[in-house]
Amino acid sequence: MTIGHSAQSDDCPRSARGRRWACRVGRLSVGSPRLRGVAETESNSGTDGAPATDSAGSGTDAGAVATAVRRRPALSPSRASDFKQCPLLYRFRAVDRLPETPTRAQVRGIVVHSVLERLFGLPAAERDPERAKGLLPAVWTDLQVERPELSVLFDGAADTDLAEWLASARTLLDGYFGLEDPRRFDAESCELRVETELESGLLLRGFIDRLDVAPTGEIRVVDYKTGASPREIGEAKALFQMKFYALAIYRLRGVVPRQLRLMYLADQQSLAYTPDEAELLRFERTLDAVWVAILRAGKTGEFRPNPSKLCDWCDHKALCPAFGGTPPPYPGWPEPSENAGETVLDRAD
Ligand code: SF4
Repeated sequence: MTIGHSAQSDDCPRSARGRRWACRVGRLSVGSPRLRGVAETESNSGTDGAPATDSAGSGTDAGAVATAVRRRPALSPSRASDFKQCPLLYRFRAVDRLPETPTRAQVRGIVVHSVLERLFGLPAAERDPERAKGLLPAVWTDLQVERPELSVLFDGAADTDLAEWLASARTLLDGYFGLEDPRRFDAESCELRVETELESGLLLRGFIDRLDVAPTGEIRVVDYKTGASPREIGEAKALFQMKFYALAIYRLRGVVPRQLRLMYLADQQSLAYTPDEAELLRFERTLDAVWVAILRAGKTGEFRPNPSKLCDWCDHKALCPAFGGTPPPYPGWPEPSENAGETVLDRAD
């Protein structure tokens, strides 16, 4: 594989808005580390909000961390993004760990990600659209076994909505094949769990949909989106997420990824971005600052609401003081738990 060479060329100019999204050429897998990661993502913090002193997870020299050990609290792209959007939202998700109701669209995203992961596990010659779509029923069945609560999304196998939903998942897979041909290259990893410690001591943790490595050593970080291509806010969030992964790879492997590629399957658009080292180092300082702010809020319990138009998508609006609600009593900085970090829904976009 050569980075920048796919079914559609990645060699694109700067966008009209002057960003380095190269051009528009066009979140959990079932049984994969993403779902298992819900249980693996443990934290080990003191109640004062300061990181504990164990060294598990630091000094990692490979991209994947497969062992489930007790770890210090880590920052994921989703939680960092939450805090930047609204500190109270971060609290509800990361500290209170309030449950959120998955939507059909989110679960469809999980299923499509899983199909693509399984697809890359097949011999290259077998990675065609029909084979991919043929994987859907088994992936959906497996997901319901692993997450029985998702079965309530449909009224049994005869629910006509289910047939439509599966058809829409097939359409997304067609959208994927409109962007690239997976028979032409092998992925180095799919659903790659990355974890690395920054010089500041901040632990980064997340999942990368796919990592491609060319014979030249060039690295491409790929993220699938099952929604439509983003407008301003969505694009900024997506870029934040991709820089997070690029920094993690840079710190783990000492190589700045050659390309960050977002693939929007719904409308067959892709966005490519080329980071540089100085930019990633600046981004590292940004993450350090976000983490300092999180720890400060964690000590005091002062997670302020920050209303925006994104509140319409907040599951916790009824508890938000900005909308007349009352949050539950602050439980204190989280004790070690199996549910810290990203959840299955974070990666279902
Ligand atoms: S409703 Fe808005 S302001 Fe309130 S917690 Fe949710 S995102 Fe934050």
